Amino acid sequence: VTRQTSHVEEKARRLPVIDSADIVVLGGGSAGLSAAVSAARLGADVLLIERYGFLGGVATAAMVTSFCGLYFDRTEDACRIVRGFADDLLSLIDQQGGLAHPRRVKPGAISQAFDATAYKFAADDLVDDAGVRLRLHSYGVATLPDPDEASRIGHLVVESKSGRGAIAGKVFIDASGDGDLAAISGCAFEIGDEHGFMQYPTTMFRMRNVEDALAAGIRKTIGGKVADAIASGEYDLPRKYVSVSPQPFSTEWRANATQVRSESDEAIDGTDVLQLSRAEMEGRRQVREFHRFLKSRVDGFAKSSILDTAPQIGIRETRRILGQRELNAEHVAGGKTCQDAIGLGCWPFETHRSGTVDWRAVGGRGYYDIPLGMMIPAEGPRNVLIAGRCASASPEALASVRVMGSCMVMGQAAGTLAALAVQEPRTLAEIETSELRQVLGNNGVCFSPDDLSIAPTQA
Ligand SMILES: Cc1cc2nc3c(=O)[nH]c(=O)nc-3n(C[C@H](O)[C@H](O)[C@H](O)COP(=O)(O)OP(=O)(O)OC[C@H]3O[C@@H](n4cnc5c(N)ncnc54)[C@H](O)[C@@H]3O)c2cc1C
Repeated sequence: VTRQTSHVEEKARRLPVIDSADIVVLGGGSAGLSAAVSAARLGADVLLIERYGFLGGVATAAMVTSFCGLYFDRTEDACRIVRGFADDLLSLIDQQGGLAHPRRVKPGAISQAFDATAYKFAADDLVDDAGVRLRLHSYGVATLPDPDEASRIGHLVVESKSGRGAIAGKVFIDASGDGDLAAISGCAFEIGDEHGFMQYPTTMFRMRNVEDALAAGIRKTIGGKVADAIASGEYDLPRKYVSVSPQPFSTEWRANATQVRSESDEAIDGTDVLQLSRAEMEGRRQVREFHRFLKSRVDGFAKSSILDTAPQIGIRETRRILGQRELNAEHVAGGKTCQDAIGLGCWPFETHRSGTVDWRAVGGRGYYDIPLGMMIPAEGPRNVLIAGRCASASPEALASVRVMGSCMVMGQAAGTLAALAVQEPRTLAEIETSELRQVLGNNGVCFSPDDLSIAPTQA
């Protein structure tokens, strides 16, 4: 609960313009990294702004160390349908020995574990090589309209240890996950479904000294063991469906097993700092409890200890900025096509409900087109694009399209569109989808499954 008891006036102040760029990207997660690198590779001057001291977003800051939504499951094999920028990120992680072989979590759901530190190093190399300028430790807090054209943003205001300053830009990409930039600049958004339901968040953690061979069969047995532990009354475990899986380096495992609620038993609101503060403590309490259960009741974990907890709780859902087109459940469930496709998504609907996780497959072809329209705000400033978790999707569709594979697809499209706009220059709306798709295709983006097939391991 946010308590506002009184107010004080803050004096208006002149801000120094501390930087300027053609394209300003807020947020260095899967979407923002992909957007910044893709735009810079097309010759644009790009500034990437990130509040932490490293890139990766949820992948590193919340230690969600497996890629989902990269592989279309063809039953006998799997085909990678997210290419382009993703090829380079995966390859750099792999070169460090930090990428595991893809594995089938369940039919239609193939994930690929990676090492979070290898991701950070790969992200550093990618931005360096592309010539992206980076401002870490910088929080985007406000936008100012373009003095010559009120329908455009002129500056993004950031706060950091160096103080408060404005950054000028021509196109702004909101890849903050929470839609911070779009929301503060007047774009319409929604939080939760019609009942206010949002997906529950999770504090991730890693363990060391796990006996790999003993733990290998865990996926088949863990559900029963969690159920027994809950029934015994000896453990306080919040979720029936959990995922405990090996990392690329031996004896290192990670767990996705906590579920943090608000005082009213709903998902905590990741845009409320008091709820976030409480949730971080509660998440770590649950980590200790779940590890106590693993150590005493699950083969392979007796000698293990907690290696680390994620720097921040993993938030699955907050603001969904309303776009020119909202991706809906019918589109995902039907594996549908669209005229303005900018790439493909394939992860099932994975909805974290109270105490459990619901799964529902992508139907039709087994994969769907991701539309550009979900990245263009329906209202608000005209030089803003939204990419990643905060793009326009119904709560149901978000349960599929929020994964990192789809976020990278959106990022590459947003960065490419922005780069095309500043090249000539043109407004974002002046660029034909056919031109965007052509450039994306030339840069490796996949619009239909090709021959790059692999045999996933069975989890
Ligand atoms: C617990 C959990 C488990 C998940 N499991 C998987 C999985 O196994 N595989 C998978 O593919 N997906 C998984 N997902 C979903 C997926 O990880 C995220 O939806 C996706 O990574 C979001 O990417 P993004 O780039 O849109 O946002 P983020 O990764 O959240 O990146 C946003 C970035 O913006 C920065 N930022 C935010 N606000 C500001 C601001 N105002 N100023 C400056 N910087 C800011 C953040 O620090 C962050 O770096 C999971 C999510 C959670 C929470």
